[in-house]
Amino acid sequence: MSANKSPHVIVAGGGIGGLALANGLRKAGVSVAVYERDRHRTDRVQGFRIHINPSGSRALHGLLPEAAYQAFIVSAGKGATRFGFVTEQMKELLNLDSEATEGERDEVDRHYGISRITLRQILLAELGAVVQYDKAITGYAELPDGRVEAYFADGSSAIGDVLVGADGGTSRVRAQRLPRAERVETGIVTVAGKFTLTDESRRRLAPKFLASPLAVMPPKGCGMFIAPHEFDRPDPRYSGIGGNDGAAALVPGALFDNTQPYVFWAYAAKRGDYPGELESLDATQLHDMVNRLTAGWAPELRELVGGSETDTITLIPIRTSVPVPQWETTNVTLLGDAIHSMTPFRGIGANVALRDAQLLCRKLVAAANGEQPLLAAIHDYEAQMIEYGFAAVRDSLTAAEQTVSDNSVGRAIGRTVFRVAEAVPPLKRKMFAGFGSE
Ligand SMILES: Cc1cc2nc3c(=O)[nH]c(=O)nc-3n(C[C@H](O)[C@H](O)[C@H](O)COP(=O)(O)OP(=O)(O)OC[C@H]3O[C@@H](n4cnc5c(N)ncnc54)[C@H](O)[C@@H]3O)c2cc1C
Repeated sequence: MSANKSPHVIVAGGGIGGLALANGLRKAGVSVAVYERDRHRTDRVQGFRIHINPSGSRALHGLLPEAAYQAFIVSAGKGATRFGFVTEQMKELLNLDSEATEGERDEVDRHYGISRITLRQILLAELGAVVQYDKAITGYAELPDGRVEAYFADGSSAIGDVLVGADGGTSRVRAQRLPRAERVETGIVTVAGKFTLTDESRRRLAPKFLASPLAVMPPKGCGMFIAPHEFDRPDPRYSGIGGNDGAAALVPGALFDNTQPYVFWAYAAKRGDYPGELESLDATQLHDMVNRLTAGWAPELRELVGGSETDTITLIPIRTSVPVPQWETTNVTLLGDAIHSMTPFRGIGANVALRDAQLLCRKLVAAANGEQPLLAAIHDYEAQMIEYGFAAVRDSLTAAEQTVSDNSVGRAIGRTVFRVAEAVPPLKRKMFAGFGSE
């Protein structure tokens, strides 16, 4: 890049972080192209609710065009400010409501729950031809003129002044840029399932499962996360994405996410605490196994697990990145899960990816405006991102380990602390202010 030329940024991966960055750069007038492995914008038919905390919402506000941010606000679902803890006998331990503990907040500075499908649609809405599909990056080369060339599986390539690897946990860009940055098994495995909500099945389900996300804390060794995935009717102003030839726009029309509502659950334990070789089990065997493991739990929980459709039962081994020290900056950098993938036990990975996108966008815009040399701008981004990103990785690993801890004394103390906090509201406010944030 010559001193007075704005950089062209190429982003590998059109997930939450990569698309948010592209929106911000486009809004600031910086040239950007996103190369996404999926074949079509609608490939991601699977989805679930994602919790966006105040920092994620602030990042979206800063990066998205105003209409798209308003679409996010009106499409975000209910119950995002609440979270409950119960025993395996469905005895209440603690109910948190961030609105109650943190008080009235500005619209931008709040917790939201939104369908992943809807969020993706909103992030794509105004990017149009900025995003190219069926472009799986396989590697890149640093060119003699200082630019970088990205290579794709279809034999094509693209040249830019900066390459951002936003290609998720299995990042090809990371594999080449930082081969020593590992992503490892935590030894914790979850088995997840979905209880489909129909008029009939709703009657069989405890209302608590429909109200807000819940964590089940048995005396030791395992845990369960439960979350309703029932999306509010989208606001008619923003109820669809339209446009010709992939030039999407926010227009009334089709639903953002017309997925059948369901309640998602995930049972977590250490691999060694499950009977047998997990990977050899099919969905029916996994379902039977979780039914057996939860046989002594409250009838409401047994109905949730037992009444779930067997073909939704999935094994999810939990992985995490291993923090690495700062590396020497080049014009190839990384963002989101591509560098700091974390266990989902704190539900903050996407929020940290959004924080990366906002910070990197600010730095690249500063470089484009001639306020800072490009490499110095990327270096500043990396120094900050490594600090908060890997702090989030460590916190998320601790949360995962606590969920499956064998320390029955520690768990009993934890349950007692939750009960006491629940009984003493000022204590609860003090202890849990900022819950759900990084
Ligand atoms: C069960 C579960 C629940 C979670 N809940 C929450 C939550 O409530 N809140 C929260 O903050 N986080 C949550 N997370 C974490 C969150 O989903 C991730 O941290 C977030 O999606 C990371 O965003 P990203 O843009 O870095 O990566 P991704 O969203 O994974 O996007 C990566 C993109 O790159 C593309 N890609 C991959 N390889 C290539 C390639 N070779 N070439 C081109 N493109 C490629 C992929 O197709 C994808 O579109 C959860 C995770 C899980 C598993």
